[in-house]
Amino acid sequence: MIAAVTWIIGISLDKGEFLIRDALLMLFLYAFFSIIFEIFETIITKKNNEEITEKTNIQFSNATEKEKNSLDSKKTTEDDDVDDDNYVDNYMDDEDYYSKKTEKTNVKFSDVAGIDEEREQLEEIVNFLKYPQRYTENGAKIPKGILLDGEPGTGKTLLAKAIAGEADVPFFQTTGSSFEEKLVGVGASRVRKLFSKAKEESPCIIFIDEIDSVARSRYKGTSDSEQTLNQLLAEMDGFNSDDNVIVIAATNHIDILDPALTRSGRFDRHISVPMPDILAREKILQVHARNKKFEEDISLKEIAKKTVGFSGADLKNLLNEAVIYSVNNGNGIITKEAIEESIARILVGLKKRNAAITEEERRMTAIHESGHAIISAKVRPEVKNFGISIIPRGSAGGYNFFDSADRTYRTKTELFQQMQVSYGGRIAEEVIFDDISSGASTDLEEATRIAYQMTMKFAMNDTLITKISGENDFNTHLYSIKMDEVEKLCQEAYDSAYAIIQENKTQLLELANLLIEKEYLSQEEVEKFLKEAYS
Ligand code: ADP
Ligand code: ZN
Repeated sequence: MIAAVTWIIGISLDKGEFLIRDALLMLFLYAFFSIIFEIFETIITKKNNEEITEKTNIQFSNATEKEKNSLDSKKTTEDDDVDDDNYVDNYMDDEDYYSKKTEKTNVKFSDVAGIDEEREQLEEIVNFLKYPQRYTENGAKIPKGILLDGEPGTGKTLLAKAIAGEADVPFFQTTGSSFEEKLVGVGASRVRKLFSKAKEESPCIIFIDEIDSVARSRYKGTSDSEQTLNQLLAEMDGFNSDDNVIVIAATNHIDILDPALTRSGRFDRHISVPMPDILAREKILQVHARNKKFEEDISLKEIAKKTVGFSGADLKNLLNEAVIYSVNNGNGIITKEAIEESIARILVGLKKRNAAITEEERRMTAIHESGHAIISAKVRPEVKNFGISIIPRGSAGGYNFFDSADRTYRTKTELFQQMQVSYGGRIAEEVIFDDISSGASTDLEEATRIAYQMTMKFAMNDTLITKISGENDFNTHLYSIKMDEVEKLCQEAYDSAYAIIQENKTQLLELANLLIEKEYLSQEEVEKFLKEAYS
């Protein structure tokens, strides 16, 4: 190469003139070097990308190192716990994308807490993967598809990984949305590639998260997602008995799935993964507490009690936040304060420490929150108040943290009390300031929503037991009668709450002052206050 350059330059110099032929050659060389440069650049970028993913992997395995020891698990090839979808997105090449996923996971059923009820079904699937011939020899058909349905963060991915881990088979992970591409047909071709790769690695598990994004009922989907879905169904229908690939799909929109998907021979097994109840929450906390240190007075049971509505992912996040808080504010051992701070943080977003709030606003919030608290203490003293805060977080100025036990049913009385409590904040503002703030709008909505449900859904009114079921009833005379009932319920709840606030004005002001002083009152402090105020 260099020789050629010297030759050309040499000729040009020797002759003392610049020929057209030379110019063309120079042009050619310029193009040639540009290409070489491009190639170099690509290689370097790719190398960097690889380095990034490698680093991430190292972190993953370090994080699991401790757990590995304590769990006495076998091998850690891929992290079990961290959502690695993001780094997968860095891969532009399908081959890389899928081959990354063939590694085995070391997640076990013991890492998934609160799944006792589904345990038998899950173990059966593991057996299908481990000893397929036992079933096929006796004429049984091994299920091809399993549908996991549940809210985000309830551990569907974790469960699928645990099945792979227990059966000790490779795990291919992908999401429905990764099949969605602007180019028509790309989704279908990715499905084809994925399945052919999986068959090579059989026995194995293919996990498709958010299956709903390709498997919406056909009328709602796009033509490309229909192609993708058809390809997916064709692949599943085309499985041979010795393929031994089980497809696990997850969704939190089981209602919108195309019925073709759940037909026999496809996703005909269905496991519902519920939001954890109090016992399950405690167990999940135990799993994630394994590698963390706690002060002695901390009970996971207590934390479980205070985290109604938290998913498994939220609970994991909670303990993680608590460690971070404890490292920042102490020696890394988790304190009660750290837990409470983290619960609140996850509940209503990060504390706005520097938010400029005026004294007046603080006072308004204190009165408002005290209003909720007083009404609750009066109409439903059995419901615990886990804490009141007037420190703004996220979009909320303050909050009351009531115990909302996990229950499927609520009585008319309870719902009505809930409405009264919702109105309490607004009424307190009215009574004390003779003016109202915009801060109560969600409370008002909440009360209306409850009244609406009580009337339309549960037919809890005194005179009407007609239940309205859907939009078809919208135009009817009945609907307008029912709306009058909603209004009446709201008015009743409001008026009765108003009377309570009037009667308890002194205590309301005392509580508000205490809140202004302390900003946050714990469950014990609230109980102490109520006891003294009403003695
Ligand atoms: P989903 O797939 O349902 O959205 P994930 O499986 O991704 O939920 O859950 C995210 C993380 O939350 C998991 O990796 C795990 O750390 C934690 N988690 C969720 N559910 C549980 C559970 N039942 N037991 C232990 N950890 C859980
Ligand atoms: Zn409120």
